[in-house]
Amino acid sequence: MPADASSLHCPNCGAAAEPEAGRCPYCKARLATVSCPSCFALMFEGAKFCPGCGAERARTVDPVAAALSCPGCKGTMALLRVGATELFECGGCDGLWVDATTFERLCTNADDQAAVLHRFATPRAEKTAPVRYRKCARCTQMMNRVNFGRLSGVVVDACRGHGTYLDAGELHRIVAFIQSGGLERARAAQIEELKERERRAIEAEQRAARERGRSDGDTVLSWNFLIGGGEL
Ligand SMILES: [Zn+2]
Ligand SMILES: [Zn+2]
Ligand SMILES: [Zn+2]
Ligand SMILES: [Zn+2]
Repeated sequence: MPADASSLHCPNCGAAAEPEAGRCPYCKARLATVSCPSCFALMFEGAKFCPGCGAERARTVDPVAAALSCPGCKGTMALLRVGATELFECGGCDGLWVDATTFERLCTNADDQAAVLHRFATPRAEKTAPVRYRKCARCTQMMNRVNFGRLSGVVVDACRGHGTYLDAGELHRIVAFIQSGGLERARAAQIEELKERERRAIEAEQRAARERGRSDGDTVLSWNFLIGGGEL
């Protein structure tokens, strides 16, 4: 964690607070909001640069755009522009809604972002809350829970074709995962897994063939032995 981050204080009551905290631990004032256009870290109101990667804050809320209902808490989600990225943020629980095309672009543009990113904030501890399924902000169908990139450990709610719902801090963790080469690692692991499965299938087939042909095999073996041939 960067040294300057620990010196941040709640603008409301002055208490020191962790840069990843969504609320002041004392007065519960909202402290941190998604503001970094590069790594989507949470930033304090008033902070000019991201405590995670140093990028300049770039956040504007659009008060006119149609709001969405939050899949997490049913609160109101306002349209938010963070750099060039448009997403919706819940005023109640700090959850985010990212439309499918935007989310895809975030995943594929990661290389551009990597140039700006120097370090990542410490990932938050895994949630221990019981699993809750949530409804898509666009079509209200139940969403799937997805371990992003299979290896990231960040479980998000996704509706295919509509978008993804993320708890506070999760978008930053996902972008950090992508920027550290997580998707390449996931792809490599998947290829290995397929190869391993194929290898096991071939082995099983050979074993079955050996079992089936055991009596024939014995005959062939002894015949070969008798005629002095070394190979089957
Ligand atoms: Zn406070
Ligand atoms: Zn950042
Ligand atoms: Zn909410
Ligand atoms: Zn949907």
